[in-house]
Amino acid sequence: MSRGEKPIAISRMAAAVQPSATLAAGALARQLRAQGKTVFDFSLGEPDFPTPEHICAAAVKAMRDGHTHYTPAAGIPELRSAVARWYQKTYGITYSSEQVVISSGAKHSLHTALAALVGPGDEVIIPTPYWVSYSDIVQMTGASYTLVPTTFASGFKMNPGQLRSAITPRSKVLMLNSPSNPTGTVYTRGELEALADVILEHGLAVLSDEIYEKLVFGDARATCFATLRPGLADRTLTISGASKSYAMTGWRMGWTLGPAHIVKAMGNIQSQQTGNPCSISQYAALAAVEGDQECVERMRKEFEARRDLVCGRLSAMAGVRCPLPGGAFYAFFDVSAHFGRPLGGHKVTDSVSFCRAALEAAHVNLVPGSAFGAEGYVRLSYATSHEQLQGGLDHLEAWLRG
Ligand SMILES: *Cc1c(COP(=O)(O)O)cnc(C)c1O
Repeated sequence: MSRGEKPIAISRMAAAVQPSATLAAGALARQLRAQGKTVFDFSLGEPDFPTPEHICAAAVKAMRDGHTHYTPAAGIPELRSAVARWYQKTYGITYSSEQVVISSGAKHSLHTALAALVGPGDEVIIPTPYWVSYSDIVQMTGASYTLVPTTFASGFKMNPGQLRSAITPRSKVLMLNSPSNPTGTVYTRGELEALADVILEHGLAVLSDEIYEKLVFGDARATCFATLRPGLADRTLTISGASKSYAMTGWRMGWTLGPAHIVKAMGNIQSQQTGNPCSISQYAALAAVEGDQECVERMRKEFEARRDLVCGRLSAMAGVRCPLPGGAFYAFFDVSAHFGRPLGGHKVTDSVSFCRAALEAAHVNLVPGSAFGAEGYVRLSYATSHEQLQGGLDHLEAWLRG
């Protein structure tokens, strides 16, 4: 082949990026449905509720008012200060509007924050099970990552000793996610304080992904990590957004609060990257954070009822160990007792083959734990109706009974 005939190679970075495993699972379910098959799809990580009406109305008004042009790269001043006020009111922590940067979804916030903090030669510490995108986003910056496995017995929580042992001279950032996707684990204040002390001792930065802060159940309480110790806010980037709290996944609204010089660097990156987050979505997010929060509580209660239903039923199934998560909208359960068993003619040896067999034999779509760095487990998203949940769980139960 002459040089001119060779296909153009993609970059090393692009070749290393994996497509999101949860998005791929969702695509497979849609494909089967299109073929007329019944699928109970529990793979997707987004609220099934419509975006509340007053938020949609604010977007329509923004369009009519002519807010359809570029905005400042870090977001409109009104939204930046509204987010800062929200943190003051909710957690008693003071941020100026210069310490808030609005991005095109919290996933974009995570990437921009990491791009502002790390590059080749730096290490990022990630406790597992972790959200699928973390490792790929770190790789895109050229930095490397160290995984810290946690156990079922510890409630999937990393302890200070584990954190200390993972730190090397190259460690720069710890990524924390409480409430967690995929486990639903919520760290207590005391547990986070103990981690904060290690952070301060070693001078690390923290990316605290608090996107599920509004979705906590029973006695569980969300904690804003930056508030825990004096000086911690100087080394913490708090990341959250509108997607999960306000059922606004498609609007792409995320935010980061942190030290002014890092936030400014993130704004500069965005100015050369996306330009600015969507103007119309920013006015919608403004209505979300400034408006009545009753809609959030209504959705939270519904998620809690579904958690009780799903985890109750899963715990009663043969060979399943399911903890009761304190937050988010996922059940993350141990199915390793089924590995090596013939399940209705399917050979199941790991979480990937378990999920493939569950889809084919029980028409239930789950995400394998291996995608989250936790073999032996599977994730079920209960962000879907009671009817779907009951139907899918009936199928799963019958299949596992064998
Ligand atoms: C959904 C999710 C996000 C990001 O959501 P966006 O839609 O990009 O705002 C970030 N972190 C975790 C753990 C999530 O589950």
